[in-house]
Amino acid sequence: MNNSTPAIAFENIEKNFSSLKVLKGISGKIYRTEVVAIIGPSGCGKSTLLRCLNRLETIDGGHLVVNGIDLSHPHFNHRQLRQLRTQVGMVFQQFNLFPHLTVLENLILAPCKVLGKTRKESAQLAGLYLEKVGLFDKASAYPEQLSGGQKQRVAIARSLCMNPQIMLFDEPTSALDPELVGEVLQVMQQLAAEGMTMVVVTHEMQFAREVANQVIFMDKGVVAEQGSAHEVLTNPQSDRLRLFLSRLN
Ligand code: ADP
Ligand code: MG
Repeated sequence: MNNSTPAIAFENIEKNFSSLKVLKGISGKIYRTEVVAIIGPSGCGKSTLLRCLNRLETIDGGHLVVNGIDLSHPHFNHRQLRQLRTQVGMVFQQFNLFPHLTVLENLILAPCKVLGKTRKESAQLAGLYLEKVGLFDKASAYPEQLSGGQKQRVAIARSLCMNPQIMLFDEPTSALDPELVGEVLQVMQQLAAEGMTMVVVTHEMQFAREVANQVIFMDKGVVAEQGSAHEVLTNPQSDRLRLFLSRLN
């Protein structure tokens, strides 16, 4: 795969929950090292789109290729699913750490179980990424002993331990007290600067403006506007995007 092949390509994808049409033919391309911000009103399908990208949801129509793996192929199999799950990391609004495990145990679980690394190798890796998110000293803490911002940084470090090529973030700062948002965005900004391919559902417009190469505005299951951060956020074309942006301020 070369750099001109998109890391993620979705074409006309559809997703229904029984009679509810949630994604109504969505298309886009995300290239390597690109950071894409997905914005839009609550319920418009942002999380569903993100979940389709790592197959937490299956699609009902269209064509979807992620990191060279065709998720829309009728013979998509378990081996490809495993591959996909190691190559694509996901960070959720609610952190999803295992409460009964220490930070270190949270981090080494998947490298040991999924990648077959030894505990020692995994712990080394975990140390590296905890250092990176500024939490090396919290290795033996339990999640409940951490602030929301620290928990989310641990969740990011945990994802990075799988050495993913693409990272998906679903409103990673929405559950945080305002004063803790910055420390998480800073870690994400650093990751972006290092060349990670990132898809970020967010309401943080300053982050989108400063870090995203591409912004996708979704509304009612379609891509309503799409372009550079400057085009979409500074120069919105539609009334619904203007309205959406004005309500955030
Ligand atoms: P957003 O992330 O933009 O707020 P979602 O993708 O979570 O929106 O949801 C889009 C729509 O799909 C909403 O109407 C939501 O209620 C519905 N939905 C999401 N997940 C499910 C599900 N598992 N079953 C049924 N409906 C769902
Ligand atoms: Mg959502």
